[in-house]
Amino acid sequence: MNFNKHLEDIKTYEAGKPIELVVREYGIEPKDIIKLASNENPCGCSPKVMDAVGTILSKMALYPDDSMINLKASLAARYSVESQNVIIGSGSDQVIEFLIHAKAHAGSKILMNSITFAMYEIYSKHVGAQVIRTTSQEHNMDEFYKLYLEEKPEIIFICTPNNPTGDALDAQKIYDFLAKIDNDTLVVVDAAYMEYALYKDAKKGINVKELIQKHSNVIYLGTFSKAYGLGGMRVGYGVADAKVIKELSKLRPPFNITTLSLEAATVALSDEEFVQKSVALNLEQMKRYEEFAKEQKIDIINSYTNFVTFCFDSRFNSSKIATALLQKGMIVRDLSSYQKNAIRVTVGTHEQNSRFFELFKILLQS
Ligand SMILES: *Cc1c(COP(=O)(O)O)cnc(C)c1O
Repeated sequence: MNFNKHLEDIKTYEAGKPIELVVREYGIEPKDIIKLASNENPCGCSPKVMDAVGTILSKMALYPDDSMINLKASLAARYSVESQNVIIGSGSDQVIEFLIHAKAHAGSKILMNSITFAMYEIYSKHVGAQVIRTTSQEHNMDEFYKLYLEEKPEIIFICTPNNPTGDALDAQKIYDFLAKIDNDTLVVVDAAYMEYALYKDAKKGINVKELIQKHSNVIYLGTFSKAYGLGGMRVGYGVADAKVIKELSKLRPPFNITTLSLEAATVALSDEEFVQKSVALNLEQMKRYEEFAKEQKIDIINSYTNFVTFCFDSRFNSSKIATALLQKGMIVRDLSSYQKNAIRVTVGTHEQNSRFFELFKILLQS
């Protein structure tokens, strides 16, 4: 059977290897496996979420609240905007899908960084759009602007902090860039790791209210999958001008968020203390990664997230290292499909990180 021609060019997204698969493939006990591959919160989620989810189980027979009134109101309050400025997706991934389907089509151009979140390209190709990339490793807004002028893209993705590299832009650079972009170009600011960046450096933080009031062509994305520790619940969101949200909502399938997920995200948002504890632990543990890299003379990229990217020289091969770690039950991300010879490691608990350093060191010396 023939399928849409533009699907031929899409590589299926490769998620971080799940623990279940490592159990099967390597015969390692689940308790001996540490997953530092998908930037999940090693502290789990707020205990308040677990309590709340327990009490909501009795509502499972009913369809979810499709208006998502509580979660939207909580997010609106968080960013000092209105509920009509918020859309909820099954992960912010789904919001990315909506906005590409809403704005791009076969032949459209979509501009993004040289190395960035893989889903932008995959969703772009769903609609047959053409991906345009910068050449700099980090977001260079001058280069973005030059390509904007030359290529006239429909959509521009800015990922700050960027995945899988971890670097982040000062918010001012984004404001300056937006001031030069016309109203009909949709600019996406993907801030999946912003909780971590904000804790490390307030200059990275974006004033979302001002952003969307000044610019009707921008959408700010956040997620509950990272700092909030709810990757398994699949909840993300977009904040934008009400007109943008109205159009995206036409593409949203009804009941795209389960009752359980809605409740979990709403309660998670109310427990600011848990997030603060998580980001503080992350920064503390990040310092150990920086020291380790220095000791071992391996380059890392200065990270504003909960992961570290190790960039190897010709002495090491990232795929070999990732596989050798996997055989010891340590799941990390080989970035060879993004970037030459690098691995991405999620910052775990003190104990998980110690184990990683121990295993990694042996590999580096062998
Ligand atoms: C993890 C991530 C997302 C979204 O994750 P969801 O689980 O779909 O909410 C979006 N953008 C970036 C850059 C990410 O790393």
